Amino acid sequence: MLDTATARTYRESARDIPCLMETDIVVVGGGTTGPFAAIAAARQGKRVVLIERFGSLGGNLTLGLNTKPSGALNGGLPLEVWNLARSAGGAGADYMALTKTSDVKIASPCDPETMKMLLTRLCVDCGVDILFETFVSCPIVEGGRTTGVVVEGKSGRQFIAAKVVIDCSADADIAAHAGAPFIMGAGDAEETTQPVSMYFTMSGVDIARLADWARNSDDIPARSIPETPEGLDFGLWLTGFNRALLAYRRETGVSLQRENITLKTAGGLMYVNATRVMGVDVFDHAEFTAAIVECYRQIEAVAAFLIERVPGFEASRILQIAPVLGVRETRHIQGDYVLTGPDVLGGTHFADSIAADTSALDIHEPRGGDVDFRGLDAYEIPYRTLVPKGVEQLLVAGRCISADHDAHARSRNMPACMATGQAAGVAAAVAIDEGTSVRDVPIDKVQKILRDSGVPIHAAELAGAA
Ligand SMILES: Cc1cc2nc3c(=O)[nH]c(=O)nc-3n(C[C@H](O)[C@H](O)[C@H](O)COP(=O)(O)OP(=O)(O)OC[C@H]3O[C@@H](n4cnc5c(N)ncnc54)[C@H](O)[C@@H]3O)c2cc1C
Repeated sequence: MLDTATARTYRESARDIPCLMETDIVVVGGGTTGPFAAIAAARQGKRVVLIERFGSLGGNLTLGLNTKPSGALNGGLPLEVWNLARSAGGAGADYMALTKTSDVKIASPCDPETMKMLLTRLCVDCGVDILFETFVSCPIVEGGRTTGVVVEGKSGRQFIAAKVVIDCSADADIAAHAGAPFIMGAGDAEETTQPVSMYFTMSGVDIARLADWARNSDDIPARSIPETPEGLDFGLWLTGFNRALLAYRRETGVSLQRENITLKTAGGLMYVNATRVMGVDVFDHAEFTAAIVECYRQIEAVAAFLIERVPGFEASRILQIAPVLGVRETRHIQGDYVLTGPDVLGGTHFADSIAADTSALDIHEPRGGDVDFRGLDAYEIPYRTLVPKGVEQLLVAGRCISADHDAHARSRNMPACMATGQAAGVAAAVAIDEGTSVRDVPIDKVQKILRDSGVPIHAAELAGAA
């Protein structure tokens, strides 16, 4: 691991930095959530700047090669985007995944390249100003409220002034630097977080042969195996290989960290989710880098296992390794309400709900072990989970919303992230129109706009949809 232990410091001198632009709303992070916030706000007539540190939109959804929302897309912008992807041939039919304990309705995986183009086009069409290859280093906080963000790029350090900032950075970088309270992971002394992983794809897999074998295998406890070739293109999903992996480890001595492998198809390509590194502090350069190095080692080993032991992989090879490490959990902002495990299990009713979500419960145990992946009835996400304590004119959306470790096992999934993005965008726009703070925004007006765009607000509207 990198040796980063040194006590040296360097004093930066204070200086004036230029204003790059002034806008109504800045959205930090153009990943799974940010584009939905930006589009929703721009469609309410607001000037919106969407800032992304990489050169394309979608974050974990596209660059991370995740592609598959674990749950139904119940309406609103996420469903609109998926329907557009479907009509462009970039997504298939939704399916039911059968697991050991329940059935889970899954929105079709998408082709990440189609999704990058689609999200970009939708942003451009409604006037969102995208800034790619631009890193937001900190918020500007004046008088207890965020009034903009500082950005870094090839031309140096500049700032963007805004009336509202929406933090969709996944790690709540902006909210944390603005002074909003947060817990890391489980909030325990060890700051336990779900493990990190890195997706990869394989080409040359005989998917029909794999599907035929999997239908008759008792080592694939969780599955969706469509009958038709078109269905297999986007709808094959297999989680298992537990016994085969154990045998492989025993016979070869190769160290593989996960008890299982998840395979899924999108656009006829095989996506593999099989790596795991536990206990990584992703804010530590050395640990973050070491995790990527370890994922590369595991990817080589998993690909060798698949080629040697799994029917259909005989002539396959690694096609692409995700260019970003997949981080499941870091900071949970403490908002005006903290969503809890019982809330997402018991379906607590919230008057200020902004979305009824049917994401799966998906826990990769921080200390190792099998994955707990379950379908559950709808739960409600209150607006207050998007409003950080201690700082004004700031919202958070995506996996860093105010949820405890247990609730995050549902709210971190992409259907919930996209829904919170859309809600944050609408709420920021309404607050500006009404001349209120985002904390005091008239929630009935936000709910009406969301409902008019097809978002189910309360769980009762989706009874039995999980
Ligand atoms: C390995 C793995 C597998 C998963 N599998 C599934 C699954 O099958 N189904 C499912 O529903 N969910 C899954 N999840 C969870 C889900 O993908 C994530 O929780 C979700 O995508 C997070 O969305 P986000 O918008 O919060 O973050 P991201 O998609 O990560 O977006 C954050 C964006 O912000 C940008 N950014 C960050 N900081 C800055 C900054 N300072 N300046 C500028 N830009 C910045 C990043 O580049 C990124 O584009 C998985 C997660 C992982 C890690």
